[in-house]
Amino acid sequence: MTEPAPSPGLYTRFASGLLFPLQEWVKKHQSVARRRELERTQWLKPDEIAALQLARLREFLVRAAREVPYYGRLFGEHGFDPASLVTLADLARLPFLDKPRIRAHVEDLKSRSTGPLVKYNTGGSTGEPLVFYMGMGRVVAAKWRATRWWGVDIGDPEVVLWGSPVELGRQDRYRAIRDRLFRTYLLPAFQMSEAQMDDYCREIRRISPRMVFGYASAVALLARHARSRGHRLDDLGVRVVFTTGETLYPDQREVIEAVFGAPVANGYGSRDAGFIAHQCPSGSLHVSAEDIVVELVDAEGGPVAPGESGEIVVTHMATDDFPFIRYRTGDVAVASGARCPCGRGLPVLDEVQGRSTDFIRTVSGNQMHALALIYEVRDKPGVRAFKFIQGEDLSLELLLDGGPELTAEVEGQIRAGLTRRMGPGTVLQIRRVTEIPPEKSGKYRYVVSRAAG
Ligand SMILES: [Zn+2]
Repeated sequence: MTEPAPSPGLYTRFASGLLFPLQEWVKKHQSVARRRELERTQWLKPDEIAALQLARLREFLVRAAREVPYYGRLFGEHGFDPASLVTLADLARLPFLDKPRIRAHVEDLKSRSTGPLVKYNTGGSTGEPLVFYMGMGRVVAAKWRATRWWGVDIGDPEVVLWGSPVELGRQDRYRAIRDRLFRTYLLPAFQMSEAQMDDYCREIRRISPRMVFGYASAVALLARHARSRGHRLDDLGVRVVFTTGETLYPDQREVIEAVFGAPVANGYGSRDAGFIAHQCPSGSLHVSAEDIVVELVDAEGGPVAPGESGEIVVTHMATDDFPFIRYRTGDVAVASGARCPCGRGLPVLDEVQGRSTDFIRTVSGNQMHALALIYEVRDKPGVRAFKFIQGEDLSLELLLDGGPELTAEVEGQIRAGLTRRMGPGTVLQIRRVTEIPPEKSGKYRYVVSRAAG
């Protein structure tokens, strides 16, 4: 692995020092100033960061009450005066924002004083699409700060494995130009056939990126492909591979790090909830606390004790145009309150355990992390790819793509292992396939559950 060295090339200095600030100035984003500010505040003591966060939250809520019809009404109904917010716990007096609420109030969630809004459409994987809006300037500063933790700056060549067909079609002549200027190369993650992946490997060699960014599953798939086809990618000077958008499994991290010859920095975030937390070189997942308030709640919606797992609820303070206040992400995490040895005072998530859809429900009523099932399949001879689909009736279907080594006997072992994990009474169907198509989002999920909740 390469240690990040602060030796930006001329073009990088040009792009990061001149082009990017110029664009930001034109778009009035002030991201440069913001990033500098974030690079200062990350070193503050935890209680100083908490105080700063609380002050910012108060101002954000006051603006939301004034400018956003939905929140003006909601705060009134709950007798909630944002100006008198004293602790983060006061936030819990407000109800959660979830997808049905966003759907029901999508027009009223827009700020009266907003500039142009961009419409987004996400979340095909659980059959629950969401339409929401963002202003033009939603934070790049927090992500920029995190890449600099790894010695990568804006303007350094970057390969992005990302995107759904929907997103790609949209609004983006402008983005294409920006991406050329800042040397971001997009490789669509939803069309990764074998032949396409050969092309991607050659393309990555040509680009020689400092950073690779993408869905964990898509990057891992490409890494496995590169290894099996003998495409070398570990000699290009990649400094870090950023993965985000979904659970990163240990075997994915392993293959990505080996193939790219670089550490994986896993992040937690999504299109709707924003850039929430990212891993630092000491290994901790730091919450971007200056922009984001994270609460972990139990099934009844109350706070969980430190060290207990809870659903991640986020309030994103850079969403004035369409505020996300106490948004339920459906993801599950643990936070013990431990500090990171890197010295940053930003709070840490010990572990993001995944989406609730990464959990499988057994007939006896237990929730089981999908890893338990994945382990029964992953290392069996001949297994190329697989996917679990759990139906609402708790039946389990395994799509299995395998070579000649995956004999009837091996399949029998897989079935026995899964039955042992799931318990008696589980309806299990194994279906042999020759290809596992990605989700609409371009992610390749090991597990899709329609039963977890
Ligand atoms: Zn750290």
